[in-house]
Amino acid sequence: MLIYRAYRYELDPNNRQRTHMAKHAGCARFAYNWGLEERIRRYQTKTGKERFTNSIEQHRELNRLKLSKFPWMYEVSKYAPQAALQDLDKAFQNFRRGLRNGTRIGFPKFKRKGRNESFRLGGPIRVTDKRIQLPRLGKIRLKEVPKILGRILNATVSRKADRWFVSICVELNLPDPTPVHGPKVGVDLGINFLAILSDGTEYENHRVFASKLRKLRKLSRQVSRKRNRSQNRRKAVIRLAKLHWRISNCRKDVLHKLTTYLAKNHSQIVIENLCVKGLIRNKTLGRAITDVGFFEFRRQLEYKTKWYGSKLVLAPRFFPSSKRCSRCGHIKNKLSLFTREFQCESCGLEINRDLNAAKNLVAAGWVETENACLEVGGYRPLEGQCPSMKQEPNTTGSLESAG
Ligand SMILES: [Zn+2]
Repeated sequence: MLIYRAYRYELDPNNRQRTHMAKHAGCARFAYNWGLEERIRRYQTKTGKERFTNSIEQHRELNRLKLSKFPWMYEVSKYAPQAALQDLDKAFQNFRRGLRNGTRIGFPKFKRKGRNESFRLGGPIRVTDKRIQLPRLGKIRLKEVPKILGRILNATVSRKADRWFVSICVELNLPDPTPVHGPKVGVDLGINFLAILSDGTEYENHRVFASKLRKLRKLSRQVSRKRNRSQNRRKAVIRLAKLHWRISNCRKDVLHKLTTYLAKNHSQIVIENLCVKGLIRNKTLGRAITDVGFFEFRRQLEYKTKWYGSKLVLAPRFFPSSKRCSRCGHIKNKLSLFTREFQCESCGLEINRDLNAAKNLVAAGWVETENACLEVGGYRPLEGQCPSMKQEPNTTGSLESAG
């Protein structure tokens, strides 16, 4: 089984290397923005096939312009702008795919200094004990001894909260995993709990975001009170970025532990296929949902089940997992999102709402799909079941909109 895996380490660069890396990030950003601008211009002024271009053509063009217009680009590795243009290809592909199948993926955006500080390098990359050798940048110290398996494909260097990291992407041939002989499990991600399993196990929701929200507000206020472009503002921005980063680490840690446990110990994991975008637009629930990170949960399960030999199954999108009684199958007409206790009118079952949903998921025994991304079953949406269906298609729903 061929898998791709990324190893992420913190770099320990000296000042010269810091500057050089910042230049690389700047060039990558420049190439991306230049490419995007060119593509927009082309689309507006040309006709027919001339309207479109790709990263290979654009990289050639950029190389031609380098000598006369952008001589400073010679200071950085050629891989950085090249990879940025490839990313632009990807962004356009995603955008077009979104147009085709109706998922709203926005038009590629221009990158901003301070927000997009990263670049990717290919070519000869070597990792020796506590050092990584990158094209043009040379040997940079790492903060820990790397343990890398597989063939190195590329390395992405990025700055987060004023620290530099490298993410090393490798290709790795693993023996196929032996299928896990465990029970089937249904998992419902809740709002009061992080997750509830169909066997009744509850995972506390640490709500890292909620508990740090006050501090976050305080720090953002501090940023906005500082004078624009001042040193103090810069420092405040870094303090804020550090808090954001810590929050995201806590969140990732909790999720990783849960998904690893699920994938290692169960033969089949059944989860809901939520209209996350629709739910996020609901302001009150939005924060809680982005907080627990449905997307990330599903993404992790998708690859971990492959690694460990278990199976991920998505219930059909409009399967009434919350409204159905897990004992007798009676389906309620209405169930408010704020009702925490499920009460069945038909058989009198009283059960926690999320546990009921988890039990429904596992009991249903869904058709297994190859990549677990396809929707199965013949459930049609009823009026009002999927909030996103009522929205106009021109609003771009994104995870940021709720936070
Ligand atoms: Zn019932």
